[in-house]
Amino acid sequence: MASHNPFTMAQSQLDEVAKLLELDEVTHEFLRWPQREFTVRLPVKMDNGTTKIFTGFRVQYNRALGPTKGGLRWHPDETIDTVRALSAWMTWKTAVLDLPLGGGKGGIICDPKQLSEAEKERLARAYVRALRHAFGPEIDIPAPDVFTSPKIMAWMMDEYETLEGKHQPGVITGKPLPIGGSKGRMDATARGGMIILREAAKKLNLDLKGKTMALQGFGNVGRFGGLLAEQLLGIKVVAVADENGGIYNGDGISMQELAQHVDKTGSVINFANTTKINNYSDIISQDVDVFCPAALENVINQQNADTVKANIILELANGPTTPEADAILAANNQLVLPDFLVNAGGVTVSYFEQVQNNTNFYWSQEEVNQKLEEKMTFAFEGVYKIAQEHKVSMRKAAYIVSIMRVAEASHLRGWV
Ligand code: NAD
Repeated sequence: MASHNPFTMAQSQLDEVAKLLELDEVTHEFLRWPQREFTVRLPVKMDNGTTKIFTGFRVQYNRALGPTKGGLRWHPDETIDTVRALSAWMTWKTAVLDLPLGGGKGGIICDPKQLSEAEKERLARAYVRALRHAFGPEIDIPAPDVFTSPKIMAWMMDEYETLEGKHQPGVITGKPLPIGGSKGRMDATARGGMIILREAAKKLNLDLKGKTMALQGFGNVGRFGGLLAEQLLGIKVVAVADENGGIYNGDGISMQELAQHVDKTGSVINFANTTKINNYSDIISQDVDVFCPAALENVINQQNADTVKANIILELANGPTTPEADAILAANNQLVLPDFLVNAGGVTVSYFEQVQNNTNFYWSQEEVNQKLEEKMTFAFEGVYKIAQEHKVSMRKAAYIVSIMRVAEASHLRGWV
């Protein structure tokens, strides 16, 4: 159904803001579609001696602001429209952070759980061979995403460098540290999110110290989100959920100790001195100051938005709030800090990784964090100003900032 197509959703989000900005028809039409897209067929020798043909995509949505950048997903349900939508959102995400980058995304239709390590390596290398001329530090720079990892990025970089016959680590980001990864990438997404929360609280004259948070998701992003909320902002995390269930303690849950428990047991459940809650309705409706979705999309929707009690929703996950829920939360005067601003710390440090690779000079953790701080604070201020001026939500304001930047660059280049 059209309404479930993520690309249709991405286009309608653009349409709404284009109307608000009175964007001219040609620019609007230009921004509704990717500039370049590739579909490649990848023959891969399997361990059992047979050959299997995989299908891969790469979409370079818009390069007006710089080389396109975005992750590579390996998923059995991957479609060109999902990749198109994600590449559009990457375009708006890099633009809102004012990075000199465009947006792109890639995907391969496969089930990584059914592949051996050797098969994964051959698939990763085949993808780079097929798209070698479309990739490059000055053309398009992939990174890890769903079911891809630093290890896969290392193979891809190696294949590209072998074909090019030279050292080119800036062709890919999210690499392991010893071969050109950046310090500070691990917690960058969560750190960026906490900077946005801190800045928003300042505008609200809200002292976050001792305030409470409920956290849905304790993976790469959620775990660091909880730790940094506690360490940097003095927030008390009282409820946490993962795919197995949820836990609650009104006096606060030690994030450090919970992380150790999860490393040992694989889940947040059964953590000492907590009571069980469920990982959906209970976590969403906790009576806390901040609700932080850091797991899945569409978790706050038309059916449950009215049950959310938190005054601030900090979207570390991508797409956790549906447009219908957004309207309900706005009517209830709850502040939604939007995903592509809140979780942009990840792509920002990926950009720093590329800068370090291209200059062959590496920064300390402090330097990375300091530069992330500057970028996130600047982006927040820009979006907040537009939200005030146009009297729109932070999400719409973020879209306005991004679309204006990409449209201006397209005009200056004489494209439209
Ligand atoms: P992850 O796989 O490391 O962690 C996901 C967490 O969500 C796990 O704790 C899992 O148990 C939990 N979860 C899954 N199903 C759940 C359910 N039904 N109820 C409650 N919890 C559930 O993924 P991640 O990298 O932490 O990404 C989380 C979100 O953040 C995604 O939306 C992702 O797109 C977004 N994001 C991630 C990054 C990044 O740098 N990793 C950057 C930007 C956005």
